[in-house]
Amino acid sequence: MKAGELTPRKAREFVARWPVYRGDGDNPLWLEPAELKALQESNLRRQLQLAADFSPYYREVFRREGVDPGRIRTLEDLERVPVTSKEAYLENPLSFLLVIEPPDALDATYEITYTSGTTTGAPAPFFNSAYDMYNITLQMRRMAEICRMNPEDTVLNLFPYAGLPHVGFYRTVHFASAVGMKLVNAMVGRDAPGFPLHRSMDEALALAQSHRASVLAGVGRYVRRFLVRASQTGADLSSLRLVMALGDAVPEGVREEMRALLAKGDADEVFVNNGYVLTECQGPFVECCEFGGNHNSAPNLYHLEILDPETMRPLPEGEVGMLAVTHLDRRGTVLLRYLVGDMAAVESGTCPHCGRSGQRLVIRMGSTYAARAERVIRVGGKLVNPEAVKSQLAGVKGMVEYQLVVEKEDPGNLFSPDRLIIRLSVAGRMRQDLEKEVVDKVSEATGITPLIQFVQSPEIYDPTLVLKATRFLDRR
Ligand SMILES: [Zn+2]
Repeated sequence: MKAGELTPRKAREFVARWPVYRGDGDNPLWLEPAELKALQESNLRRQLQLAADFSPYYREVFRREGVDPGRIRTLEDLERVPVTSKEAYLENPLSFLLVIEPPDALDATYEITYTSGTTTGAPAPFFNSAYDMYNITLQMRRMAEICRMNPEDTVLNLFPYAGLPHVGFYRTVHFASAVGMKLVNAMVGRDAPGFPLHRSMDEALALAQSHRASVLAGVGRYVRRFLVRASQTGADLSSLRLVMALGDAVPEGVREEMRALLAKGDADEVFVNNGYVLTECQGPFVECCEFGGNHNSAPNLYHLEILDPETMRPLPEGEVGMLAVTHLDRRGTVLLRYLVGDMAAVESGTCPHCGRSGQRLVIRMGSTYAARAERVIRVGGKLVNPEAVKSQLAGVKGMVEYQLVVEKEDPGNLFSPDRLIIRLSVAGRMRQDLEKEVVDKVSEATGITPLIQFVQSPEIYDPTLVLKATRFLDRR
């Protein structure tokens, strides 16, 4: 279902149809925004007190920085807590684990997951208590509701069964179980020596067919390869209606490709859901409809802020900046204002598509929700992801070569404003038409109106000099 086809009424009708969702009277996503905020703030106050009492890391930070947690009453007051860097966490992950004295039955450590793909190498443990696991399982059921999975679905779990517990693999078990769906774990991945456990992609495809899977869940790029392979081998995936392509950015072109691979004639279109995953929130933020925003499915557990990368001050709704996560109701690892290292934009209030409350990541950079901070550049006051601009330009007809250039309007003056230039070489199309299309696409993706320069291809890409075209030049 695409944006525009889903309405709050349809979303509520769906919930009313399935007892597993209809009976969830405590679902915070269906509270009015003001009620949700009151719940979040009450949770926040309790979480801060727990951090002050039992978190070795935050106890020390509060003391050193003179933070009085009792004075932090609202989400806006959070600014009084210093941000937490990834480095601080990786340096001593255990110091973020609450040591609750005396513990109650749900404080026992139940599960350890690990932060993924850090630049420093070693993965850091992230602890879930039993209390956290129950909350996460509810979060997963509400996530499934947003994507309109139902108890009659059959899920094929394409996340790797790996040497470190993969959040995706286990959360798929949780959401399938919580909704009461049939679940087939493909157990893809690589065998460790002496442990012949894993299935190949073709074996996973056979499972998808024999069980008539209606939902696929996996890492974006793996799911794409899976669908390519299905198409090559003529596998019958006609029962499929929802593709959860998670973790990786899955821009518009890739979704169209996936749908083309699954071409089903007149049947309903497959919903390709590109959820954003962060270990710190233990499960995906998902779309209620394609490109409709990535819902935080547990606003009672997690609060998001978008911060200016230079000042670390919160930015207004909808602006792109550094994503920071604050835990509101956890008992294992607890993080406050934790910088995950991604750039994103967030909106709150009521979702215009499904009517749920809470925060949603929204698309401000091309057709994807977030980008690694180190890949994002600043042009004037705006943050731009060159990859997003490139993906916007890749499909423009008549364009032979292109190049993005960022430079000072007055190159001799350090304080001169920045400008974005797009250099194009064209064949078989009117320059004015192409110019308009490119200006529209780039300003939509970045909020910046670029200057267009028409050049001959060798000025961008001279095959006698270099092997690859230079698509992006920063001349500042
Ligand atoms: Zn929605």
